[in-house]
Amino acid sequence: MTYAIATPAVPSLPIIGSDQRFPIRRVFCIGRNYAEHAREMGAVVDKSAPMFFCKPADAVVSDGADVPYPSMTTELHHEVEMVVALAGGGRDIAPAQAAALIFGYGVGLDLTRRDLQAQAKAKGHPWDVAKAFDHSAPVSALRPAHEAALDDDSVLRLTVNGELRQQSRLGEMVHGVPQIIAALSTLFELKPGDLIFTGTPAGVAALQRGDRFHAELVGVAAIDGRIA
Ligand code: MN
Repeated sequence: MTYAIATPAVPSLPIIGSDQRFPIRRVFCIGRNYAEHAREMGAVVDKSAPMFFCKPADAVVSDGADVPYPSMTTELHHEVEMVVALAGGGRDIAPAQAAALIFGYGVGLDLTRRDLQAQAKAKGHPWDVAKAFDHSAPVSALRPAHEAALDDDSVLRLTVNGELRQQSRLGEMVHGVPQIIAALSTLFELKPGDLIFTGTPAGVAALQRGDRFHAELVGVAAIDGRIA
């Protein structure tokens, strides 16, 4: 069997301490997972019902490549988030089984066309053009889970041009990683290669062309990039 056109490239991420790369299957994202961020967006957190959306795998920007300023927006916002990479999957996963499925951790930006998201919310339209655009997901190299010392006091932060924009303890998440994986797996069959963006703390704001960002999950992973 041969394909009729050239096969699309497999998006992937580097792995810290390895020459191998992590192939990306899907990118899932949770919304409103830090109460202060939900408040700044004028939303309320529904603790009983986590809210998910997706980005295409080829929206991931790896290896610190430049992020082109997207078309059709004048309000490109940063959302710094911990990213969880899965080495296993399944359906209806129990929270207690979730940790064993994790390959590693990284940090990324859930870039958002905030003006188009506001229009979509007002009209009851889907969020795809606001969230799932090309180059909307810069992600760091992944730290293998067995090398990542993470707890509630681990710090997630973003600086832009050297100025602190967002910072939070992971303990501020409404839904922890095991709960996110369990909830997602009731909606989708999770598989190896899946990435999960785990939500952003307060402080989201606009990025301009030429801005340089530094996103960090302190002691675990970091990425430097530029809006081109
Ligand atoms: Mn987000």
